[in-house]
Amino acid sequence: MSPSKPRSRRAPPPPPPVSVPDPIAMTRAVEDFLRAAGLPLDDENLRGTPQRVMDAWCREFLDGYAVTPEEALGGTFTSSSSSRGESRELVVVTDLRFHSMCPHHLLPVAGVAHVAYVPGKGMAGFGRLSALVDVFAHRLILQEDLAREVASALARVLGSPGTACIIEAEQSCLRLRGARQHQAITHAEAYEGELRKDGALRRELWARLGARR
Ligand SMILES: [Zn+2]
Repeated sequence: MSPSKPRSRRAPPPPPPVSVPDPIAMTRAVEDFLRAAGLPLDDENLRGTPQRVMDAWCREFLDGYAVTPEEALGGTFTSSSSSRGESRELVVVTDLRFHSMCPHHLLPVAGVAHVAYVPGKGMAGFGRLSALVDVFAHRLILQEDLAREVASALARVLGSPGTACIIEAEQSCLRLRGARQHQAITHAEAYEGELRKDGALRRELWARLGARR
């Protein structure tokens, strides 16, 4: 840039794309897909399939775009010890079942998420943690990013000094196609704040995860 040129005022980056499904266009796209695959749309088992596929995608696979982490975590509350800044104890919830769709093949992913945090300014109801996982799982997302998004949303919304999300999943794209590793389980971990360090808190978390079976 030449020194005489005035510094351009850059607009702030646009917000990340949000899925706003168009049900009619989605139904038509599934019809086109089936037709392109050479399948008869008037087959008795395919009649209504485009609508069913659209419905499942809108209601169950992409519905996470319409929910914010703040909404999913709902009204947070304070514990007496965390409000006095004393708590360095972990809250851990293991084996939260989730399903998702991989963005590369649009194939299902099913698994469990283990979520942990050190209470900060707020705490969340246990059921809310499952809703938080679904906010991100019900988007097109890679497993690594799912773990990272959950850990960072927990840190942000709860003001938690340390968070973790560990995902174990069965990826259809690995099990049913490509390498066809039918038994493979994929793992992803993400940590924020105090849990980033491999210290006592992280060891405590893994001891609990190891003891659960
Ligand atoms: Zn895939």
